[in-house]
Amino acid sequence: PSASANQKDKSDRATNEQVLDPRTRIILFKMIGRGLLFEVNGCVSTGKEANVYHAVSPDQRHLALKIYKTSILVFKDRDRYVSGEYRFRKGYSRHNPRKMVRVWAEKEMRNLKRLQTAGIRCPDPMEVRENVLVMSFIGDKEGWASPRLKDADIPTSAHTELYVELILMVRRMFHECKLVHADLSEYNILYHIEHPTPSPSCESEQQTDEHPEQRGHLVIIDVSQSVEHDHPHAFDFLRADVRNVEDFFSKRGARTLGLRRTFEFITTPTLEGEGDEETILKKRMEEAEQTPEEKSQDNQSSENGKVDDEVFMKAYIPRTLNEVFDPERDVGALARGEGKGLIYKDTIGIVAPKEKDEIPDRKVHFDGSAVS
Ligand code: ADP
Ligand code: MG
Repeated sequence: PSASANQKDKSDRATNEQVLDPRTRIILFKMIGRGLLFEVNGCVSTGKEANVYHAVSPDQRHLALKIYKTSILVFKDRDRYVSGEYRFRKGYSRHNPRKMVRVWAEKEMRNLKRLQTAGIRCPDPMEVRENVLVMSFIGDKEGWASPRLKDADIPTSAHTELYVELILMVRRMFHECKLVHADLSEYNILYHIEHPTPSPSCESEQQTDEHPEQRGHLVIIDVSQSVEHDHPHAFDFLRADVRNVEDFFSKRGARTLGLRRTFEFITTPTLEGEGDEETILKKRMEEAEQTPEEKSQDNQSSENGKVDDEVFMKAYIPRTLNEVFDPERDVGALARGEGKGLIYKDTIGIVAPKEKDEIPDRKVHFDGSAVS
């Protein structure tokens, strides 16, 4: 059989496992024809909105293909991510599922690029064509995918380190990528152990593990729904993300910072404290352990800042000054040094401006990214 017939066979086999529509199949054939893919193998994951396949490049690299489903039903609940997102102002058609999934796939590609640029571990995004996203495969040499954090077999002693790693990633994602993941949980984080020789470039970590070279790292995936950090609901999404992380790690016995303090750590533009971000975070975690909650003496069940956290989860966090109920009152309170109770004082950076009018309009680049 000719090479192309052979390749066609291979991708046929894969597409038959999880039936793909003819257009998607054509996209895959073309990718094979262009030499981007050598073969498409089995399904790594079947999800509500997308399936992920394992593929191999002509130079034998493992790839992951995320193929968004084009049936309209599953995309309905995405509206809340889209409304308020200026990157969607144009070209988002609720009536054309093909266009819709294309927008999501492209968005995932762009968001992955942002993460990559900021040095956050994530799959290497390679190409997007309509509803097909090609990225590097997170797994071992044989092509086995790295487990989700949820399923990973991680020694208890390693949890706190991983928690620190994750919170630093979320902070960097917020400030450098200007993104909130918006679906962050143990389901969308992979635990990846790099087996080849440890790179000497990593910071001098004092690992107490028995096999320091085997230390796994967290890899962020599934960023198609991630929103700009100034999306009107960005803080609600971030708060839910932080809660998932907090729940997961505290259940696993890691030392954590608590919801509200984590939220503050992530969003505060400039961290106060000595040393780098990791040092500051670890110091705060120690402090949080000693002073579990912030002076809410009103009841005893305030273990670990739980009362604080409950209040915090329910509190409304405005994203911009426009959403603040009474900005003049709040700014006035800040000016009088009474702004301590303002949950959002750091996050929206109101530092008692003299005039409300002085707050400049946000300028936007032609590509949609915000300036200043
Ligand atoms: P969704 O949750 O929307 O179905 P995800 O992006 O979370 O899509 O991917 C689904 C699953 O596929 C993940 O939980 C992970 O197990 C696997 N997966 C996704 N991307 C990769 C990748 N680049 N490398 C290896 N496995 C992946
Ligand atoms: Mg997922």
